[in-house]
Amino acid sequence: MPHSQTSEDVRDLFVIGGGINGCGIARDAVGRGLTVTLAEMSDLASATSSASTKLFHGGLRYLEYFEVRLVREALIERETLLRAMPHISWPMRFVLPYHNDMRFEGNTPTSKLLNVIMPWLKGRRPAWLIRFGLFMYDNLGGRKILPATSTVDLRSGPEGAPLDDKFAKAYEYSDCWIEDSRLVVLNARDAVARGAQIMTRTKVIKAERVDDLWEVIIEDLDTNETKVVRARMLINAAGPWVGDIIHQKLRVNSTEDVRLVRGSHIVTRKLYDHDKCYFFQGTDGRIIFAIPYETDFTLIGTTDADHEDPSVPPICTDDERDYLIDFANGYFKSTIKAEDVVWSYSGVRPLYDDGASSATAATRDYTLKVDNTGGAPVLNVFGGKITTYRRLAESAMDKVKAYFPDLPDKWTAGVALPGGDFEVSAFDIKVAELSHDYAFLTPTHALRLVRAYGTEAPAILGTAQSYTDLGKDFGANLYEAEIVWLMRNEFARTAEDVVWRRSKLGLRLSADQISVLDEWMQANRADVLRKDAA
Ligand SMILES: Cc1cc2nc3c(=O)[nH]c(=O)nc-3n(C[C@H](O)[C@H](O)[C@H](O)COP(=O)(O)OP(=O)(O)OC[C@H]3O[C@@H](n4cnc5c(N)ncnc54)[C@H](O)[C@@H]3O)c2cc1C
Repeated sequence: MPHSQTSEDVRDLFVIGGGINGCGIARDAVGRGLTVTLAEMSDLASATSSASTKLFHGGLRYLEYFEVRLVREALIERETLLRAMPHISWPMRFVLPYHNDMRFEGNTPTSKLLNVIMPWLKGRRPAWLIRFGLFMYDNLGGRKILPATSTVDLRSGPEGAPLDDKFAKAYEYSDCWIEDSRLVVLNARDAVARGAQIMTRTKVIKAERVDDLWEVIIEDLDTNETKVVRARMLINAAGPWVGDIIHQKLRVNSTEDVRLVRGSHIVTRKLYDHDKCYFFQGTDGRIIFAIPYETDFTLIGTTDADHEDPSVPPICTDDERDYLIDFANGYFKSTIKAEDVVWSYSGVRPLYDDGASSATAATRDYTLKVDNTGGAPVLNVFGGKITTYRRLAESAMDKVKAYFPDLPDKWTAGVALPGGDFEVSAFDIKVAELSHDYAFLTPTHALRLVRAYGTEAPAILGTAQSYTDLGKDFGANLYEAEIVWLMRNEFARTAEDVVWRRSKLGLRLSADQISVLDEWMQANRADVLRKDAA
């Protein structure tokens, strides 16, 4: 196939994939002085990185698999990340009701050990073990901001009110919420601000090694034009497609492979009135969360199911929906029905294939593998959590350093993402300031803007003194001024980018309103971008 253009300059790194790992690596690398190009075939965070449970967490259940390294790294990381993005991340308390029926998944290392030394437990998860796990959770990760575990009497507190009366006691511990897809976009923006080139709707269709360099063939999916970019090193952060890149696009002879594990979530109208989450343990050894979501909703997830083919878009199947409903109904007093589900989403975990017997047991830790057998190196990224993306990027740089010996030291810990340059404790002050400076904003609107954009919210509102000054009203407090900002600064091209990834306003807008927004964005795109460039 003839290619319309070959770029003359040679990039240090070419990153495949605009999920959290690709964008996190691009940001770290460009901040160390490397020249970086990233291609994402769809929208930023369009795959797994917008479909997570949205927790910066250590992963309490991974302790049962003795994944202490991963849990410790993730626990320490929670507060580092929270400090760098106190707009899109915030502390949350998790209520873990206890009942005698709770069982281990049969093949965790902990359950196998207990079966040998305490056979009389017959697979039950005893309360003392949960307390011990929470003690480790509290102490492995050096908490400074997040409060410690406590015991909750469910018969007297608000936490017990929505739960079945059989639950009398619970433990309560801390983790953090994270707006996953905004995290990706903010990393991408920071990378661009530091000099990276990021192209969305641009697919890597092939890459080959030529004279110690990679020649990467990319296709602009809007125009179908192809182009060749040359780079010294490739980073394969294609998530569920990491194997497709290795075997089909690069044709590298590698035995490494990915295990795709689908996880689905359902969303209902809000099921209870307080702001804490629930951590429910099932009789099958699995766990699910019920989380206050977008003020008026409750998020419930997740499942674990093997998923064969990354090109098959993951959806929450009826079986998965019913499983989550039944699981939650075992805890809540009120009964959730299928018709109460207002939205569902599903994502595929790109886990390193460690040969584990079940999808639940496959390691959630990340694995980085460099292949340089045929000349120029490629770093393949497997697994990982949203929570560990920054540490994964640092580990990736440790591998990259072998080819760029003068690479400066790590720098991202403690450096705020765009809009996150304020103290964790100052969030309410920021909302009050915005409400004061833009007195026409409704309280919910001011809150949403600070949550999404932090200290950048005034840049969107400009000199506006009334809602009329914000331009066209698309519904649910979404105005033209915000859309223009998203198109110019946050790579938003379609209404779907805006209502499901830059925000979750899709939960509040009708299908007609979303299509009006989409038509407006398509009709005004050239104009919006031209005025920005002028
Ligand atoms: C159900 C579920 C719940 C989870 N919950 C949590 C949680 O609460 N906390 C946590 O820390 N982690 C969680 N995770 C894990 C976390 O979401 C993932 O580890 C992370 O998002 C993976 O990011 P990634 O960048 O590797 O992959 P992705 O986000 O999938 O990004 C890969 C990108 O590569 C692009 N791409 C692929 N092929 C090409 C190509 N040829 N050319 C150009 N682009 C290409 C894709 O379009 C995609 O956008 C969860 C995962 C799932 C599935």
